[in-house]
Amino acid sequence: MDSYVSPIAPGRSYYQDTVERPRYPRIEERVDADVLVVGGGFTGLSAAIHLARAGVDVALVEAHRLGDGASGRNGGQMGTGQRIWPGEVEALYGFERSKALFDLAEEAKAHLFEFIAANDIDAELRMGQLSVVHKRSYLPEYRGQVEALKSRYGYRSVGFMDAGETAERLGSTRYFGGIRDDGTGHVNPLKLLVGLARVAASSGAKIFEETKVLSTRRESGRIVATTEHGEISAERVLYAVNAYGPGLDKAIDAHVMPIGSFIGATEPLPESAGVLPGGEACDDSRFVVRYFRKSVDNRLLFGGREAYTSEAGDISRHIRKQIAEVYPHLKGVRLTHAWGGSVGITMQRLPFVRTLSPGVTTVGGFSGHGVMLANFAGRLYAERIAGNRDRLSEFEALDIPSFPGGRRLRAPLLFLAMTWFSLRDRI
Ligand SMILES: Cc1cc2nc3c(=O)[nH]c(=O)nc-3n(C[C@H](O)[C@H](O)[C@H](O)COP(=O)(O)OP(=O)(O)OC[C@H]3O[C@@H](n4cnc5c(N)ncnc54)[C@H](O)[C@@H]3O)c2cc1C
Repeated sequence: MDSYVSPIAPGRSYYQDTVERPRYPRIEERVDADVLVVGGGFTGLSAAIHLARAGVDVALVEAHRLGDGASGRNGGQMGTGQRIWPGEVEALYGFERSKALFDLAEEAKAHLFEFIAANDIDAELRMGQLSVVHKRSYLPEYRGQVEALKSRYGYRSVGFMDAGETAERLGSTRYFGGIRDDGTGHVNPLKLLVGLARVAASSGAKIFEETKVLSTRRESGRIVATTEHGEISAERVLYAVNAYGPGLDKAIDAHVMPIGSFIGATEPLPESAGVLPGGEACDDSRFVVRYFRKSVDNRLLFGGREAYTSEAGDISRHIRKQIAEVYPHLKGVRLTHAWGGSVGITMQRLPFVRTLSPGVTTVGGFSGHGVMLANFAGRLYAERIAGNRDRLSEFEALDIPSFPGGRRLRAPLLFLAMTWFSLRDRI
């Protein structure tokens, strides 16, 4: 593997050291396209694929290397529905819209499964998700979620787990129960991303790495983006920068906040360690969520410890402590990799899609739920541009408020709020 060090995220990831990542050229001259996609993560690559397949001339630029953002270094868990429970979406938008958003997420899931299979992407897709409860008092709520998913949302792949089943499936007695979801799964995100890039390039999208958009201007009815090395002129621009584009646009900065999330990979564990024997992925009920799964070579990939400042701190030490809380017999386990990335969250934990000015759209803010949703949102953007359907408007119609506090106070206020919630997790 190459020795490339990403300038935008702390730590070398397990994925980076085990997945071959082809390089794409820098832009060196002026390029013309119908659509310029800014950002080479799931959203941008998926948009580029579906635009190119619809015959649209598309150029994608990535400031660093494809996957250096969240898409190449995340937990790989697909999940079901939106980031918040359907009941929470209902409280904000009513049942009909909540159901529409749930159905859209189900389509997103089906889309990802089909896309991986149809394009022969070795994404290490495995099925099964456990959502487990770290406080006994949350059990009735989780039981209620299962009932609501089945009866109100027609989603039958879930079941409630008691403490015994939870312990058996996790290989840990630290949780009180939870939900088993057989209808979703987890992937190796960097393998998926490399596959997406291959499909985008072979579909005709022009892809440029190490090409950061510095600014844009309007010229003769077109949008011209200046990068460090050359210019791109396009009729339309998609900002698919998620948490990694501060300074590009005020509305994105106000609505999508970066928070750090960190993952550690253990050395390969023996089967006798008994961790997640069924191979499911797991997330827990903490506000500062812990999420973990096993890699194909039997490592525990354990995510947790969010940070609300740019300080990553000693990732390994914190992650090892959290692993030992769930799996006491793994106390002192060696981590071969520890890394972090920025999750782009919104106030409602629902995606932020907006037309920023004529021809300029942003799609992002998946709030830790982008493995499935970002891939689909990119396709929905392409559908809109190609004039087929406009399902992206379902997301665009969401009334996502900006974070309070303005440019200066936004980050400190979020830090305070998150600190309070993480304290509550522990009480
Ligand atoms: C540690 C971690 C764990 C996560 N775990 C999960 C999980 O288990 N399940 C899940 O569903 N989601 C998870 N997420 C979230 C998920 O990874 C994201 O929602 C998703 O990858 C967002 O994809 P994206 O394409 O919108 O953005 P990104 O993948 O972040 O891509 C944005 C890209 O834009 C580029 N960019 C920014 N500015 C410019 C510019 N000016 N010019 C050119 N390029 C630019 C950046 O370099 C970056 O590569 C996790 C995220 C992190 C960080």
